[in-house]
Amino acid sequence: MIVEQIFSNLGIGPSLLSSGNLAVRSPISGNVIASVVEDTPQTLKAKTSNCQKAFMEWRKVPAPQRGELVRLIGEELRANKSALGALVTLESGKILQEGQGEVQEMIDVCDFAVGLSRQLHGLTIASERPGHRMMETWHPLGPVGVITAFNFPVAVWSWNTMLALVCGNSILWKPSEKTPLAALACANLFEKAVARFGGAPEALLQVVIGDKALGEAIAKEKRFALVSATGSCAMGKALAPLVAKRLGRSLLELGGNNAMIVAPSADLDLAVRAILFAAVGTAGQRCTSLRRLIVHQSIKTELIDRLKKAYNSVRVGNPFDDDTLVGPLIDQSSYDRMQKALSQARKEGAIVTGGERVEQSDYPDAFYVNPAIVEQNVQNDLMRDETFAPILYAVPYSTLDQAIKIQNDVSQGLSSCIFTNDVREAEEFMSVTGSDCGIANVNIGPSGAEIGGAFGGEKDTGGGRESGSDSWRNYMRRATNTVNYSQDLPLAQGIVFHTGHE
Ligand code: NAD
Repeated sequence: MIVEQIFSNLGIGPSLLSSGNLAVRSPISGNVIASVVEDTPQTLKAKTSNCQKAFMEWRKVPAPQRGELVRLIGEELRANKSALGALVTLESGKILQEGQGEVQEMIDVCDFAVGLSRQLHGLTIASERPGHRMMETWHPLGPVGVITAFNFPVAVWSWNTMLALVCGNSILWKPSEKTPLAALACANLFEKAVARFGGAPEALLQVVIGDKALGEAIAKEKRFALVSATGSCAMGKALAPLVAKRLGRSLLELGGNNAMIVAPSADLDLAVRAILFAAVGTAGQRCTSLRRLIVHQSIKTELIDRLKKAYNSVRVGNPFDDDTLVGPLIDQSSYDRMQKALSQARKEGAIVTGGERVEQSDYPDAFYVNPAIVEQNVQNDLMRDETFAPILYAVPYSTLDQAIKIQNDVSQGLSSCIFTNDVREAEEFMSVTGSDCGIANVNIGPSGAEIGGAFGGEKDTGGGRESGSDSWRNYMRRATNTVNYSQDLPLAQGIVFHTGHE
């Protein structure tokens, strides 16, 4: 599907597609499909001021009314799911099912945030003083800077934006420079919802287009009360000190190196299906993609044989084709990193199956690969790195303690899972001595989370939690209020402070 057609389905004129100098390539063909205007430090400053002005107004709108705007955004997304999903596929290369799934995730988050808009609650706390009441009140935080990665070009924005909006904040969004079109399309749908809502301040959402220099400028800009950044661990390590230097808040969703432990009692049919979706789906380009298989030595040969057969049946190709399960890698640098990791693995004695470039004659400028399985005896530094491509390392284990140790022995801490039918193993895995990740599943793969839970990870994954549960608190500030309705002025801790005026 051509980009002009998709844009016209989204009600956007073609002029935006040739408006500037930033070339946008589709990973499907490697061809330039648009060139859009890049922001400058000056336009960022102006948009930040607009964002600040919008916040001063939006914070005063009652939260359930703010929820009404999010409900309307959800309606726009429902009406445009097919076109926006196709744009996500065109720009990021994920298969159409997953492109549509990403938009569905946005719709789900809208529904969640609408409900939340009537439930932003604080506590009432017992006061030690007679005739006093103590409580917590949650207030809007301020303008929120949102920086997103190429692989979830729209869903991660919506996790942040729908919550930030009902919490009373304005948003400035810097999408990945590799996927600006989906962001511009979302901004257009957002404006349609704003027009239907009537009365929202101007510039409640601002989009800025640019690379990491613009991201760094957002990190340094003190008017952003919160910078929510999604991307590689390297990005988080560069960005967090900039935000911390001005004592701002950051919410980090960084790289993962997700593992599955397959125990002797596991249902291997389920495990194979889960591995396939998690390891080869999205061409291994999910933060939660399965990268490490820790399999009991007694079943390793059987599982790997079954996996190799399953991998052989996976169709790699154009993500718009119905029977394709694996689309292209985002670009050549991603392909180069994959090949470098595989050649290092071979050098270190691993058995590598798959990983070859395919579809080269049809798409000479795009990078399609067969997903790879890398069998090794122990976990090495190569395996401890997140290579953002479909590489699944497999190592054997003999005891559960050893498996958990291998699972936790990486710097990232995003997602993890165990396949077992033994309740003791399952509980051990989820206990304090089990997985150290933000997500720990049983008999479900590490990827494809629902929006209702808090999403995020520990250690180098950054510690942030987004989307469901109580993640909304990230986007608000807390005030503790004590009200004295007595005629005395007792002091806390029983302090006596005679002034002579009692
Ligand atoms: P990336 O780190 O290259 O870029 C992500 C975003 O950060 C882009 O918008 C980029 O312009 C910006 N950026 C890069 N360096 C920056 C800097 N120093 N300061 C400010 N901004 C900067 O990541 P990518 O290649 O787009 O995405 C893949 C990575 O993202 C993987 O590591 C993946 O695991 C991670 N990811 C994590 C999550 C999560 O929720 N934990 C979700 C999606 C992707």
